[in-house]
Amino acid sequence: MTWGWRKLLAIRNMVRPFIWKSIGSGSETNAWSDIWCDLGPLRKFITPRIIANAGFHLQSSLADIVSPNGQWRWPIAWYNLFPVLINLIPPSIRENVRDRLVWKDLEGNTCHFTSWEVWNSIRIHDNKVNWVNMVWFKQCIPKHSFHIWLVIRNKLKTQDRLSVWEAGSETNLKLMCCPLCCFDRDSRDHLFFECSFAAQVWNNVRTMTNMEHVNGEWSDIMTWMEQNVSLKKPDNVISRLVVAAASYFVWQERNNRLFTRRQRTALVVAQEIITTVRMRILNFKFKRRFEKRSLMEKWKIPSSNMEIEPD
Ligand SMILES: [Zn+2]
Repeated sequence: MTWGWRKLLAIRNMVRPFIWKSIGSGSETNAWSDIWCDLGPLRKFITPRIIANAGFHLQSSLADIVSPNGQWRWPIAWYNLFPVLINLIPPSIRENVRDRLVWKDLEGNTCHFTSWEVWNSIRIHDNKVNWVNMVWFKQCIPKHSFHIWLVIRNKLKTQDRLSVWEAGSETNLKLMCCPLCCFDRDSRDHLFFECSFAAQVWNNVRTMTNMEHVNGEWSDIMTWMEQNVSLKKPDNVISRLVVAAASYFVWQERNNRLFTRRQRTALVVAQEIITTVRMRILNFKFKRRFEKRSLMEKWKIPSSNMEIEPD
């Protein structure tokens, strides 16, 4: 059996409650093991022995257990055994209509089957974190957003996190130092942006945002972002893009220096951040009511990107 099938089978029990049968003729729906009513598969509480004693089979279809006049064919005694059946109304059988599989979402609504819907149904639902809009927003650059999500969760493989493996390989790890400033080990807070190299990058790019007063400490940046995240103002959107891009390119430079011989100056890295963010901004349409001339000039945004708000 292939890896893919093994994984699909492993989540069988997780997805099973969402896979329902929409009843047409009832002849393609197993009466006991398919889900076609709110009670779930009837096999949950009706044993094979009871099914057989009533003259049915494990393979009986829904059509087999409903009479032509729309009544259940199971024995009256079942209502004593399983009182939940008393309120179960027989489905209306539609001849010549095929039964079909449908996906029901968490609210119990039949919906169009998409991989997104499946994921949304089976994932763990937690409260939204207060930085969600800082990472994911309409104008974001997805690879930068993914990166800053790792930064916020402190999941990058920075040198301080590697130290837990120090016990076995002391010699090499003792020599580790930040490849950008060659001072001590790097860490999330060091790279974004306390490191002298990263601080130069940040100081260069923050002048292009409305975060000019925010120094390069990660906690300060997070505080500013959390306070300004809900605002859809273009300057806040640009700041979010710049923070994400800055962390992305500083991390890229750190890895280039660690694993290749390529090196760029802080100014070159800053310029690359600005160029990348500008390319993204050029796809925006700014509403005229948001106009901020200094911002437009800073980013060299042509006036053709302005859109007049309809009255
Ligand atoms: Zn450093």
